[in-house]
Amino acid sequence: NQRLVVEAEKLGITGQLAASIAHEIRNPLTSIKGFMALAREGELKLDFISIIDKEIERIETIASELLVLGKPTSMKTVESNATTLLQNSFTLMQSQANMEGVLLEFLSTEEFLPIQCNEEQIKQVFINLIKNAIEATSNNGQILLKIYKQNNKACIEITDNGKGIPEQIQDKLGQPFYSTKENGTGLGLMICYNIIHQHGGTINFKSKENKGTTFNVQLPLIEQ
Ligand code: ADP
Ligand code: MG
Repeated sequence: NQRLVVEAEKLGITGQLAASIAHEIRNPLTSIKGFMALAREGELKLDFISIIDKEIERIETIASELLVLGKPTSMKTVESNATTLLQNSFTLMQSQANMEGVLLEFLSTEEFLPIQCNEEQIKQVFINLIKNAIEATSNNGQILLKIYKQNNKACIEITDNGKGIPEQIQDKLGQPFYSTKENGTGLGLMICYNIIHQHGGTINFKSKENKGTTFNVQLPLIEQ
């Protein structure tokens, strides 16, 4: 986030940071709303409550991050399991996918893929990418989350069968505030790119108009 501020200031868009904050708070709110809708239909399961708790915590985290903006802080990282982080993100986004009539699936070949990371940031990346995939698909959409090991990296693939990204705009993706959506902020991918690069990883995508898109994230594994 420190870096986000620096980038924003370089571009003279400090005022637009409010939009970035709103964007980050919208994800957990949508998730809470989804579970509340289920609750209203009498389908509130006990483990939904802990997910709601976690989502509220996320909003608190974002709010507290605001307090440290402007201070030079070092990124806190822990030894973590990439598979668990992706699975958590999958669980969080499932209600939203359901509401949009999108099938969200999760496939892992490796139960334990240790990475050194800031867990909140990495989950934020996964959630942003899943959200984009949901928004790119309509009814009968399908999204597959895949995680596997390759060349000492944790490889995460998020594939949707949505509308795809026209070739002529592919270079613009990740630029702050570049969005093709009516209510988009165009910050999601910029945040993803920043976080993944901070973690020594890579992120890229392949897309075909009217066929779909695959985002590919690679994160260095901790040497065993
Ligand atoms: P936002 O979602 O607010 O528009 P993002 O930075 O998350 O901002 O995404 C920027 C743009 O990239 C989107 O507006 C969309 O045009 C394109 N995009 C991102 N992911 C996908 C995807 N999975 N399928 C199609 N287009 C995508
Ligand atoms: Mg987005």
